[in-house]
Amino acid sequence: MTTIVIGGGVVGVATAYELARDGEDVTLVERDPTVASGASAVNAGLITPGHSLAWASPQAPGMLVRSVFGARTVIRVRPRPDPRLARWGVRFLRECTPARFARNTLVKYELSRYSQTCIDEVAEREGIAFDREQGLLYLFADDEALTAAWQRLGVLHEHGLEQRILTADEVGQLEPVLAGAPGIAGAVHGVTDGLGDSAAFARQLADVAVADHGVRLETSVTVTQLVAEGSRVVAAVTDTGDLLTADRFVLAAGTFTPLIAETIGLRVPIEPAKGYSATFPIVDESQAPLRGGVDESRLVAFSRLGDRLRLTSTAEFAGWDTTTPTERFAHIRDVAASWFPHAADYDAGEYTSGLRPATPDGPPIIDRSPRHTNLWVNAGHGHLGWTMSCGSARVLTARIAGHTPPVPVDGLGWR
Ligand SMILES: Cc1cc2nc3c(=O)[nH]c(=O)nc-3n(C[C@H](O)[C@H](O)[C@H](O)COP(=O)(O)OP(=O)(O)OC[C@H]3O[C@@H](n4cnc5c(N)ncnc54)[C@H](O)[C@@H]3O)c2cc1C
Repeated sequence: MTTIVIGGGVVGVATAYELARDGEDVTLVERDPTVASGASAVNAGLITPGHSLAWASPQAPGMLVRSVFGARTVIRVRPRPDPRLARWGVRFLRECTPARFARNTLVKYELSRYSQTCIDEVAEREGIAFDREQGLLYLFADDEALTAAWQRLGVLHEHGLEQRILTADEVGQLEPVLAGAPGIAGAVHGVTDGLGDSAAFARQLADVAVADHGVRLETSVTVTQLVAEGSRVVAAVTDTGDLLTADRFVLAAGTFTPLIAETIGLRVPIEPAKGYSATFPIVDESQAPLRGGVDESRLVAFSRLGDRLRLTSTAEFAGWDTTTPTERFAHIRDVAASWFPHAADYDAGEYTSGLRPATPDGPPIIDRSPRHTNLWVNAGHGHLGWTMSCGSARVLTARIAGHTPPVPVDGLGWR
C-alpha cells in the first residue's frame, strides 16, 4: 500500500518510519527545507510522562480568566473574536471537571510512558544520538505549592509513576549548580523522566527511514489541499500544483492539521498554543545543570541539550502567530540567569517560538477520519508531542494494520 504522510515534525517522521518498517510504501511531505523545523525544533526536550496532567483541569477556568486580566498563568488566552477558538474553548471548559481531568491525564500518561520506551528503543536500534539525559527536577518556591502539586500528581503515582519529594538540600546534592540557590523550597524528582533533543532525533530518524526503509522524503513541498471523492481522499495538491496520489493519507502536520483537513470540510479540534523558546551556548560546563526540569513557580522549563542550554515558557492561545516580541524573553533570561548565572552566554541567545497542537481534552487524535476510509490523523499532542511521538506512531501503525494497539485507544479517537 502507498501512504503519504503530511508533515515532517517529530510525529510525522516517527509515523513515516513505523509505517515503512511495517511494509508500507511511504512518502513523507514536509513544507520546510528540513524535517523537524516547527514545534519539534524549539521544544524544551523533556521526555516527561510525569508532566501528563491535563491542561483542562478544575483550576483551568479561573486561570484563564486571570490570564485575560494579565496574570502570569500556565495557559493564557489572547481574547479575540474567533469562532474556531470559541468552539474549542467550550469543549475545553467541558473537560475541566475532576473526573474528566483524571481520565484525560491517564490517557496522556499511558501513551507517554509507552512512548518513552519506544523513543529509547528506536534510538538504540538505529544508533541515534540525541543528548539523552535521565531524571528531571520540578522546582517549587514554596511548600504549599509543592504539597498541592504532589496531591495533583497522586493520580499518576497510583499508576506507577516513580517520583519523590526533595528538600532544597537534596536538590543541591542531585544538581550541584543549584546548591544554596535562593528561592527553592523543594522539588519533585521525576526519577524516570528524562530529556533529549527532539530535532536531532527526528532528523537522524528521517535519514534512517530514507536510507534503510525506502521512505521518500519530499521537503520544501506544501500540501495546499486534499481532494476527496465520496468516502475516499484521492490526492493531495501541492503548492507547485502537483497532485500526489496514494492509497492512504496521514495528516501529521501539528497545528496545521485542521487547516489541511478543512479543505475537505473536516473539522479537527486542534488549536495552537504558542510557546517561547530561548537557546544559549554553554560557556562553562561546570556551571550548567546536568539535567532538565521545570521552574514550576515561574513557569519556565529548562534543559541541557549537549553544549546548549534551552529554556521555554508560556502557552498562549493566540492563533497561528509566531512573532517573537523581545519583551517575551526577558522573563526567560531572568530565570536562566538566576539559576545558572555563569553557565551560558546570555548575550548570544537564539530566540524563537513554536506552536503546540492542543486538543481541548489533552490527548492527541490517532484515528481514522469519520468520513473517509483512507484518511488518518496523528496530531494534537499539545505540550507532550516529543514525549508521545514514537508511541503515537506505533499506535497509528497498529490501528492501520488492524492489530491490537500497544496502549488502549479509548481517549485517542476522533472527537
Ligand atoms: C515552547 C515549546 C516547548 C515544548 N516542550 C516540550 C517538551 O519539553 N516535551 C515534549 O514532549 N513536548 C514539548 N513541546 C511540544 C512538542 O514540541 C510538540 O507537541 C511536537 O513537536 C509536535 O510535533 P508535530 O510533529 O505534531 O508538529 P510540528 O513539529 O509542528 O511539525 C509539523 C510539521 O508539519 C509541517 N507542515 C505544516 N503544514 C504543512 C503542509 N501544508 N504541507 C507539508 N508540511 C506541512 C510543518 O512544517 C512542520 O514541520 C513543546 C512545544 C513548544 C512550542
